[in-house]
Amino acid sequence: MKGITIRTFGYHDMFSVGSGGLENLTVLEVNGKTIVIEAPAHITATLPRMKTLRSESELTHVDALIITHVDADHIAGFDSLIWHKVFGENSKLLLITHPEIAKQLWQRVRTAFETDRIDMKTKRQLEDYVKLIELELGKTTKIEELGIEIETFKRSTKHAPFLSIAFCILRNGVPVLAYSGDTSFDLELIEFLAKKGEYPIIHEAGSYAVGSQSHTHFNELLTLPVEIQKRLYLNHIPITLEENILQRIKETNSPICIASELNNVII
Ligand SMILES: [Zn+2]
Repeated sequence: MKGITIRTFGYHDMFSVGSGGLENLTVLEVNGKTIVIEAPAHITATLPRMKTLRSESELTHVDALIITHVDADHIAGFDSLIWHKVFGENSKLLLITHPEIAKQLWQRVRTAFETDRIDMKTKRQLEDYVKLIELELGKTTKIEELGIEIETFKRSTKHAPFLSIAFCILRNGVPVLAYSGDTSFDLELIEFLAKKGEYPIIHEAGSYAVGSQSHTHFNELLTLPVEIQKRLYLNHIPITLEENILQRIKETNSPICIASELNNVII
């Protein structure tokens, strides 16, 4: 069994776009397919240019998509991705998310997608465009098509008044990667993400100040035991704080890395 290759094509927050950064975009290559985590606005600009990605999708290079929640920096590229899949390559996206989030995604794109655009009368639903794989809080979902399992955290992350998920990816029951999604600093979530093994944890560090109720500040992650810090790879970083974060890592001798360090790592 071949490993999963991680590719990181973006690790900044949504306010960094105008300053040269790209929002979170992590891709896992497994068995010749891609599993893309989140669909920021640049997804259909960035991924098709990545000629070395091993994907069954010639146009989008997206075979499966995991969505953690419906903020724009995570889904702004979703509808253009669906257009490309449906009309560009006549294929269905494998969408992996919680059913509530799938419903919210449909609400967002419904106006443009609910009537067939060829015959202009047939009614369409989300499932006409995607094959939905539902994640449940606190449960592990086996995804045969990809040869992985996804264990979803038992509750919403502390990010917004609506659902936002965190998860671990497993192969044959063994965790290989954990992903925090957007969250304020949450020890119970970190315990879930880091529970066993030495696998990497991609954690957001999107807060501009300590104590935010929706994002984690880098200094909060520095309070964690060093064994956990050495497994942390930061994404969702404000580009204006990046220098500062790198400086703090140096000063404190922390083993924490930026998510770009995971590019091309095989897990
Ligand atoms: Zn976000």
